[in-house]
Amino acid sequence: MCSSDKHLQANLTSLTERISAAVRRASRPSGSVTLVAVSKTFGPEAVLALARCGQRDFGENYLQEALAKMDAVGAAAPRLPLSWHFIGPIQSNKTRQIAERFDWVQSVERLKVAERLSAQRPAQLPPLNVLLQVNISGEAAKSGVAPDEVPALAHAVAALPRLRLRGLMAIPEPRDDPGEQRPPLAAMKELFDAQRAAGFADWDTLSMGMSADLEVAIEQGATMVRVGTALFGERAK
Ligand SMILES: *Cc1c(COP(=O)(O)O)cnc(C)c1O
Repeated sequence: MCSSDKHLQANLTSLTERISAAVRRASRPSGSVTLVAVSKTFGPEAVLALARCGQRDFGENYLQEALAKMDAVGAAAPRLPLSWHFIGPIQSNKTRQIAERFDWVQSVERLKVAERLSAQRPAQLPPLNVLLQVNISGEAAKSGVAPDEVPALAHAVAALPRLRLRGLMAIPEPRDDPGEQRPPLAAMKELFDAQRAAGFADWDTLSMGMSADLEVAIEQGATMVRVGTALFGERAK
């Protein structure tokens, strides 16, 4: 047994099973989908419990909460090689701490923010991994760049020296029936493949799929899923 928290350990085991079953059904190679554990609103002890079971990638939406959690996790287990993903909306006056403390930023949607992240990425760290967030369902109030603006933004972001653009991220509009997510998820895969064919052959990351729709997302080609509720339980509203 890897963790004293049997509940979290069991959730991680069954989630890993769900992911491998979906990967098999899609006839994709095992290990081709990375799990990002979305730990927002849960404390450092929950992160540590999963990290001790081998989970390495963690996603956070709120900067101040994330920094406090990283400090606590780092103090308790300084040698755990964790990868932190920023997945929430980015205010441009908050980019410095994101550039200094995170390994990935999945929610890049504006060139100005990307330029600041590149300029503020410390020289001793590897380039910051970034994904462009796409508003694939065309929701008026949703974050993300419109699909037809992806090529121009991708070219501009790829030219920034301290960023490594690795692909795309999306949060399709939630549906009661996850099967209804198929069209937007398929559209994301199409956009991703089109960009790879158009000169971004090194793109390796398509981040889509959450607790409710990860099977459909994997069927449609996700290489990274971001899961909160199915791991940690319901978040307090
Ligand atoms: C909260 C969040 C998730 C996780 O959602 P669940 O439904 O709890 O799995 C994934 N991605 C982003 C961007 C989020 O904000």
